[in-house]
Amino acid sequence: MSQEVIHLEAIRKSYFIGKNELPVLKGVTLDILKNEYVALMGPSGSGKSTLMNILGCLDTPTGGKYVLSGHDVSTMEDDALARVRNKEIGFVFQQFNLMPRLSALENVAVPLIYAGISKRDRDEKAMMMLEKVGLGQRYKHKPNELSGGQCQRVAIARALVNDPSLILADEPTGNLDTKTSVEIMEIFGRIHAGGNTVVLVTHEEDIAEHALRVVRLRDGLIESDKLNNHALAGVVN
Ligand code: ADP
Ligand code: MG
Repeated sequence: MSQEVIHLEAIRKSYFIGKNELPVLKGVTLDILKNEYVALMGPSGSGKSTLMNILGCLDTPTGGKYVLSGHDVSTMEDDALARVRNKEIGFVFQQFNLMPRLSALENVAVPLIYAGISKRDRDEKAMMMLEKVGLGQRYKHKPNELSGGQCQRVAIARALVNDPSLILADEPTGNLDTKTSVEIMEIFGRIHAGGNTVVLVTHEEDIAEHALRVVRLRDGLIESDKLNNHALAGVVN
């Protein structure tokens, strides 16, 4: 069994606006191995979110092949795709995407409802995850009673609650101040250290420094793919 969590072959994605085709991804080939920590960078409009949505099985490519943890998801039907997504992937969004009427605990527990777990076990697991991100005390709070950084912690706890091996995050610090961004990146660092594969989008070089590998997209193609210096230093020592 290969250690590739993500295997992309010549992925293409176009959006169609009426009869006009907008090609966004023009043949992206990329392998990401188990327990890698990758920052995806590139100018605004280069296709980062489009690629992340495909990686997260939230959208399907127009062409090419995507094998996720051994499953060829590029040809999968919606139901099967949803099952793979729930099992394999935790997704964190820039805008947090929490449910406003639910408490922190209830938000974290949502994926467990789909997994068919009892309420008691859901609450217990969700509480454990909230404690992991340092928000155990705030479990009753609704999103509008939490700061941006706290909302993102709730969203990270929700992404982790199903024990997915792959964590995807699209500009997770994009709405946060510098100090809070560093705190959130420390959480991603711990997630990676715990054995997860992490891919996150950022346009800030300081944030990308936390990752071990930086992939840059430009105009729908990979422009560069490099290990960070501190990752290289780790290899040498
Ligand atoms: P990035 O995240 O790198 O800023 P995106 O993947 O969001 O880039 O967008 C790439 C291009 O695709 C942009 O030109 C954007 O306007 C276009 N685009 C993104 N989503 C859609 C959509 N759902 N329908 C049509 N065009 C889209
Ligand atoms: Mg984007």
